[in-house]
Amino acid sequence: MTWIPVRIDFVEPGTQCHRIANGRHHGFKTSTATILLNEDSGQEYPFGPVCAQHMVSDKSLLRGIPDFTTRDFTLEEGEGDHGSGGKGGFQGADASDAEKAHAFAKRYLMLRMDRVANIPGIQSRIQYAPLEKVYAEFLRTRELTDDASRHIIALERSEKTPVIYRSNHLLDVYTAYVQLNRRIKEVKPGSYLDTLVSIRDNSLLKRLKLSEAQIRAAKLRLHPQAFTG
Ligand SMILES: [Zn+2]
Repeated sequence: MTWIPVRIDFVEPGTQCHRIANGRHHGFKTSTATILLNEDSGQEYPFGPVCAQHMVSDKSLLRGIPDFTTRDFTLEEGEGDHGSGGKGGFQGADASDAEKAHAFAKRYLMLRMDRVANIPGIQSRIQYAPLEKVYAEFLRTRELTDDASRHIIALERSEKTPVIYRSNHLLDVYTAYVQLNRRIKEVKPGSYLDTLVSIRDNSLLKRLKLSEAQIRAAKLRLHPQAFTG
């Protein structure tokens, strides 16, 4: 069975690692996990960082894995594996510059074409038609050529790309969306719930922006620079 590292991402609170270690499953302290793709079934499953190392034979793929949790400043809660939330970097601290560049390019491609673009109700301008071909090729091979990687990084940095469509801003949108949804699930019906839903639907999804007051009201734990650009 072949397992392909796809990304480090948020998981629903209470999610368990897919690998049984010492006869039992474990959870994730930060509700973030390493997502691996089972090549035979085409299904994705969550793993802790140590368990992911056991499943994947080519460890360089784990060093260059795109991390969608780097702008999350949630504190650790409960028992289980540490995610990478709040650490502010890619999982592979020992990754080479080339591996980091590839991980950045893959993550930006996935943000623009899938992770943020496919959030229900989000504005439609995130998905970027000129990237469709390279994204289709990426889904087929799960790799980027050096040329494709350079092209994607140049697009992210281009002056023509508005700040709200750059990597960190889209990560902040994604992180805020995950945290808002978690809070919306916990809160009882009433005016506070209405406020949270309005912040999500009218500000975050339509305008890709949150004010300092909204971040405070929703008690979001974001990067200190989130939404300041
Ligand atoms: Zn595990």
